[in-house]
Amino acid sequence: MSEFVRICPKCQQQNPEYEHVCQSCGQFIAMEMAIQKPEGDKATTTPPVAEETHTTPPPISEQKNPQHSGNTAF
Ligand SMILES: [Zn+2]
Repeated sequence: MSEFVRICPKCQQQNPEYEHVCQSCGQFIAMEMAIQKPEGDKATTTPPVAEETHTTPPPISEQKNPQHSGNTAF
């Protein structure tokens, strides 16, 4: 799946190719060349929480909270 974006020359914001103005600063970008969006670079369009996979707590932490599910059979 390929996605084309227009890079704002003013603030480097990645805007959809159909956009004529920058979504961030309002810079006129209709004359900018649409380029293929680089893969893996989603930091500008997605919440940072989506990339925080390395901060996932270990599964053992779930065993320390038996009251969470109400399972008293432990
Ligand atoms: Zn901009």
